[in-house]
Amino acid sequence: MNQPVLVLNANFEPLNVCTARRALGLIISGKAEMMLNGRGSIRTVRTIYPRPSIIRLGHMIHRPRPRVRLSKREIFRRDNHTCQYCGAKSSRLTIDHVVPRARGGDHSWSNLVTACPACNLRKGGRTLQEAHMTLLHPVAEPHPSARYLFATHIPGNQDWVPYLEGW
Ligand SMILES: [Zn+2]
Repeated sequence: MNQPVLVLNANFEPLNVCTARRALGLIISGKAEMMLNGRGSIRTVRTIYPRPSIIRLGHMIHRPRPRVRLSKREIFRRDNHTCQYCGAKSSRLTIDHVVPRARGGDHSWSNLVTACPACNLRKGGRTLQEAHMTLLHPVAEPHPSARYLFATHIPGNQDWVPYLEGW
């Protein structure tokens, strides 16, 4: 009953993930319909319910666009685990402040980049101009697709993929 269930908004936009228990509660109370049953059934005292994999809410939920939490792991993911100065894919990546902290650089999506140890060392506490280095791409806060947001669930829930595409 604790298996993950993908919750779709009334317009089919993927919203979040809930437990099978919660999903079944929403279906029984008429607040959601089952989109996909990939998991057999759930037996209660009185009846047998299909075990949902994806549900869709009957009413539209309005909420702000989800944002990616700023973290080392998410910066590596945004930068495709590639040094943003030389393009190297290293297993030992570091985070570099484009404008060094000592020079007023902040802890933000546009000032933090993935760097290999060699580039990080070469740049040191200098600005791009001072170090004569450039970024391969401008960096910014990622605007996450549904696939990006729900990536950790995809390996165990391949049947969700068609419902995540395009969002
Ligand atoms: Zn590098």
